Amino acid sequence: MVLGTYKEALSARSTDKQIQKIAQDGGIVSALLSFALDEKIIDGAVVAGPGKDMWKPEPQVALTSDELLAAAGTKYTFSPNVWMLKKAVRQYGLEKVGTVAIPCQTMGIRKMQSYPFGVRFVADKIALLLGIYCMENFPFASLQTFISEKMGVSPELVEKMDIGKGKFWIYTADDELSIPLKETHGYEQSGCKVCLDYVAELADLSTGSVGSPDGWSTVLTRTDAGESVFKLAVDAGLIETKPMADVKPGLGLLEKLAKDKKTKNQKTIDERIAMGLPVPYKASTEKEDPLANF
Ligand SMILES: Cc1cc2nc3c(=O)[nH]c(=O)nc-3n(C[C@H](O)[C@H](O)[C@H](O)COP(=O)(O)OP(=O)(O)OC[C@H]3O[C@@H](n4cnc5c(N)ncnc54)[C@H](O)[C@@H]3O)c2cc1C
Ligand code: SF4
Repeated sequence: MVLGTYKEALSARSTDKQIQKIAQDGGIVSALLSFALDEKIIDGAVVAGPGKDMWKPEPQVALTSDELLAAAGTKYTFSPNVWMLKKAVRQYGLEKVGTVAIPCQTMGIRKMQSYPFGVRFVADKIALLLGIYCMENFPFASLQTFISEKMGVSPELVEKMDIGKGKFWIYTADDELSIPLKETHGYEQSGCKVCLDYVAELADLSTGSVGSPDGWSTVLTRTDAGESVFKLAVDAGLIETKPMADVKPGLGLLEKLAKDKKTKNQKTIDERIAMGLPVPYKASTEKEDPLANF
């Protein structure tokens, strides 16, 4: 399945006006983590908090809803959230940790849970793993360069960034600018070219903007933990939903983009194999013989 295993696909958004205002899309991540904290499903969450440099996130253990909301919004560069999980357990003493992760981080966390070599005390304590979709990511220096040089705007003035409709968008207090994504090509992290997961297939619940209208998110509930927290938040009136069939552009676009990413990056993997270069483990599992590449 091109979107991984899931129970239900829905279009959804937070009903909280404050979250709607500050969130990237439907505010599903902030709403669910905040709800899980209130309900003691988690006792804290590792999120991509604001850092010293504007738009350079720093992983943070959020213990309150205010801290969670301060981390809302997408930062299009790497936030090493996985590294912070150990600290969340050891230094903050959390027993039930929530976190948000892009697909590669989700894979790292699941691997850690499946093979808890030296991290058993962390692996057992991850109670809620929310995955966000990710087509590609940028090193911080690249992000700064194309915003300041190609778009002619100082990153400090940017209030929101977004990727959508084939463009990279920035919003300042009084302006809205975009460049076609083909102009950001070459600035991506090179490791993203061999990544086969678009929709965080191993998360408890995955969410992103693609498939739903502006201000809404497409949600895939995957595990019992993800389904249960989502249903409880909907029942509590904190999240409103619409069937995917009733929204445009709909699930078909998400499936198409997930397939495009897998096809394009599998090609890069195959080229690397032909050149005798190392490839990620997941790539080898897609072959008939899992050990064929070794
Ligand atoms: C690099 C990147 C690429 C993305 N590409 C796509 C895409 O192609 N298609 C798509 O539909 N969606 C994509 N997304 C996801 C999308 O931008 C939103 O993050 C997602 O829809 C959640 O929105 P929300 O309103 O529910 O979250 P909010 O309530 O706004 O909360 C966002 C949460 O994401 C966390 N976060 C922000 N930046 C990062 C980061 N760099 N790493 C880890 N966590 C972070 C924050 O800590 C916060 O908890 C991408 C996200 C990232 C980080
Ligand atoms: S494209 Fe893949 S490897 Fe790159 S940041 Fe996104 S999830 Fe990670």
